[in-house]
Amino acid sequence: MSFKANYHTHTPRCKHASGTEREYCEKAIENGFSLVGFSDHCAWPYEDGFVSTFHMDLNRLPDYVEAVNDVRREYEGRLEIHLGWECENYPAYMGWLAETKAQYGFEYLILGNHFDTTDNGGLYFGSCRTPEQLKRYVTMCVEGLETGLFAYFAHPDLFLRMYPRYDRHARAASRELCRAAKDMNIPLEYNLLGFINCRGRAEGLGYPVRGFWETAAEEGADCVVGLDAHSPARFDERREWDEACAFLDSLGLRRLERLAL
Ligand SMILES: [Zn+2]
Ligand SMILES: [Zn+2]
Repeated sequence: MSFKANYHTHTPRCKHASGTEREYCEKAIENGFSLVGFSDHCAWPYEDGFVSTFHMDLNRLPDYVEAVNDVRREYEGRLEIHLGWECENYPAYMGWLAETKAQYGFEYLILGNHFDTTDNGGLYFGSCRTPEQLKRYVTMCVEGLETGLFAYFAHPDLFLRMYPRYDRHARAASRELCRAAKDMNIPLEYNLLGFINCRGRAEGLGYPVRGFWETAAEEGADCVVGLDAHSPARFDERREWDEACAFLDSLGLRRLERLAL
């Protein structure tokens, strides 16, 4: 059996996930995972006092770090556990993010670029419908990756979710993203939450997008499968996990089973 690692695991602090850290760990072990990385939606120090609906609040940060470190000790020898955080590229706060990463000992950060500049009124990148919006997503993602803060690029093809087809604009944007990630040695995540949620949808491409992954293969980018688990039961989705691995392997993509942290 191959080494199974999931670096994309949430906790209820983000206000839209359920389950205790221990429940995630138990489910992971039950399903043959050897490694779990917690990477809940980060807190941002919004200057305007905005309260995000899908990020943890800043006052939950110490408790999050402590809880992950607690299970890390508790499961030592049975399950390898790492401390991560999923963050956007919000340029105003990237300096703060670098400091916070060091201060709290985060082992890795995931780029999950959901909104443009802020989730207080910024464009939701999962709703892009024009070539200009695709370009904006690419610009903001590449800029985020270039900060050097990120070890993992979550759902890179989220921007195609509502886009009608994999046309030349989508292909060009995808190519630019894949090439940048490849140049910076940052693996692209095949997101299983998107796979499950977007199955059979009527509007837009959904994600993951087959064409995007074909482009990724042409560019020689590395990839990784991520559950994006918002509940412990996600670890039960073994069939989908195996299908995703088989799909990526069939395209000849190099699939990482472990991040170099
Ligand atoms: Zn989420
Ligand atoms: Zn996530």
